[in-house]
Amino acid sequence: MIRILGVRVDEINMEDALAAVEKFIAAFHAGQKRLSQIVTINPEGIWLARGDSGLAQIIEEAALVTPDGNGVLWAAQQQGVTIPERVTGIDLTYRLAELAAQKGWSLYLLGAKEGIAKAAAAKLTEQYPGLIIKGVENGYFRDREQQVVEQIAAAAPDILLAALGMPFQEKWLFEHRDQLGCGVAIGVGGSFDVISGQVRRAPAFLRKLRLEWLWRLLSDPKRWRRYLVIPRFMRAVKKES
Ligand code: UDP
Repeated sequence: MIRILGVRVDEINMEDALAAVEKFIAAFHAGQKRLSQIVTINPEGIWLARGDSGLAQIIEEAALVTPDGNGVLWAAQQQGVTIPERVTGIDLTYRLAELAAQKGWSLYLLGAKEGIAKAAAAKLTEQYPGLIIKGVENGYFRDREQQVVEQIAAAAPDILLAALGMPFQEKWLFEHRDQLGCGVAIGVGGSFDVISGQVRRAPAFLRKLRLEWLWRLLSDPKRWRRYLVIPRFMRAVKKES
């Protein structure tokens, strides 16, 4: 584990993350009641947690904190730590769906606008035959929160994917960690929008060039404000190292 601007990040790659999930699900099947929360942290999240002690504490207590974003890899490198790859929410979702189909683990998709989780579930079951998706629910449920918690607990999925955006998803999962009745819960941000086909992900060559952020900015210029934290993040990391 390393700290970037005081915020915890685990030095893991995708295979480590998948192995950890398998361990968490085994504990769930053995009777563990509290879910294992996974946080996929990017520079924006680190920046938020730096000014939000509640969020920082959730990250401290998480079962796993994956390095999501090239900025995180860069910041680790400033400390002389090489993290080999990003472990993003969307990549984790696809890999877990594949593994879940093989191992018989069940999923629940919570988040995004009405109809998107359902469309994402359809795409995943088409791509990974045999995948069990126990339920879907949109991410705009503030007036019927308790009902949504009970619905998920009744389904008792092995993995709950929460695509509610950071930091809402982290806080919500943490707050309800004893009632959700699932094995593993992961905040996966805007993943359902991409999986459903609603939003196109950056092509692989751009991802290799570490330019996924630029693609996201150009596809949705309204997000420009979010990018203001990147130079600040980089300056603070430089200063720290
Ligand atoms: N969202 C939601 N409920 C909310 C707010 C947001 O389900 O109350 C969804 C939103 O529809 C989108 C996702 O959360 O699908 C956030 O995506 P974004 O790319 O902004 O999140 P990030 O990956 O940056 O955390």
